Amino acid sequence: MLSEKIIQKPAKRKFDVNEIRKDFPILNLQINGKPLCYLDNAATTHKPDIVIEGTKHYYTHENANIHRGLHFLSEAATQSYENARLKVKEYINAMSSSEIIFVRGATEAINLVAATMGNGKFIGEGDEIIVSNMEHHANIVPWQMLCERVGAKLKVIPINDNGELILEEYDKLLNEKTKMVSIVHISNSLGTINPIKEIIDRAHKFNVPVLIDGAQTVQHSRVDVQDLDCDFFVFSGHKVFGPTGIGVLYGKTSYLNQLPPYQGGGDMIRTVSFDQTTFDGLPNKFEAGTPNIVGGIGLGVALLYINSFDINDIIEYETKLLEYATEKLLSINGLKIIGTAKEKASVISFVIDGIHSYDIGTMLDTYGIAIRTGHHCSQPTMKRFGVSATARASFVLYNTFEEIDRLYNGLLKIKKMMA
Ligand code: PLP
Repeated sequence: MLSEKIIQKPAKRKFDVNEIRKDFPILNLQINGKPLCYLDNAATTHKPDIVIEGTKHYYTHENANIHRGLHFLSEAATQSYENARLKVKEYINAMSSSEIIFVRGATEAINLVAATMGNGKFIGEGDEIIVSNMEHHANIVPWQMLCERVGAKLKVIPINDNGELILEEYDKLLNEKTKMVSIVHISNSLGTINPIKEIIDRAHKFNVPVLIDGAQTVQHSRVDVQDLDCDFFVFSGHKVFGPTGIGVLYGKTSYLNQLPPYQGGGDMIRTVSFDQTTFDGLPNKFEAGTPNIVGGIGLGVALLYINSFDINDIIEYETKLLEYATEKLLSINGLKIIGTAKEKASVISFVIDGIHSYDIGTMLDTYGIAIRTGHHCSQPTMKRFGVSATARASFVLYNTFEEIDRLYNGLLKIKKMMA
């Protein structure tokens, strides 16, 4: 099978950033005559050569449609795709691979849950859905659309000045009308790591299901959905070193079985007649039409890649990067970090007095440094901190201390120029 063929490295690799960088061919690029310094990992991550090779291998050795063919290639493609599902299941420790639904990304996963939960059984008029003030738009808008459709209400957990959830306020929002809690694990705009186990436990006391938006989780830490006891968990492939256009919805079997299909079409049915259609079981019920086969396979390989390291090595290294970058950036006069939670992932949002974040991003680009600027699809979070935009640097396992120095020196140059 593909993934076994292309992973020949030992089970747990020694963490050596110089060796890791060799796995990512794009990191050799020169941008504006300077070596690429890529600090926009919260938006998307680069792909290691084994993921690139994996997708090439699929197209050169296995390309066929899945599930429906009896010929060799169709069997091979089906096996690789289903093997990828198994890899996801193992990676997040789901009970069964039928609890793993392949979707386009975190956004589609949340839309799927929001749309199907509003189909009569779970969420209706007068019911309440809890999100927080640090959500990505992907975890706000689908719920708002649902509220609009069925007459439910969106309730928002406020955050303090450090960008931490105020849990006492969460407690006040939970009541018998609450039908769903949908919370981000790691905020893409603030870097805050939320105490999701605690949040899930408190919701379960009211028998309320919890969806965890893990779009910024899997690249930074380990997930065990059974230990968390979350009811849904979503993430995107492209943020965890995998391809774009593929993502995962994990759901407990008990919920997924009760939800109606999201879309209709081929592959999700058992029988179809003009009088009646019967639906297939999990996971096919939620995967209408030809899926992103190569994306699923690439994601499976990406998870094997992350899994080739001890996750504690990754966490330790990224924590050092975060501490180093925080100290360096705070030494710049007029720079303020937005999001100073005690528990933080390697994401730093900042503003500099008198310089618009767009100017920061544009000028850094001329030095070959890629950061993100804007509202980071979290406009309510920006509003909470009284800013319209921030500059954001985000680090993963292939970033270096030298790159942080380049960011720091670039910012000093910009400050001087704009003075
Ligand atoms: N949730 C969070 C916290 C994110 O950071 C993002 C993307 O930045 C999303 C959801 C949406 O992910 P995607 O655009 O891959 O569907």
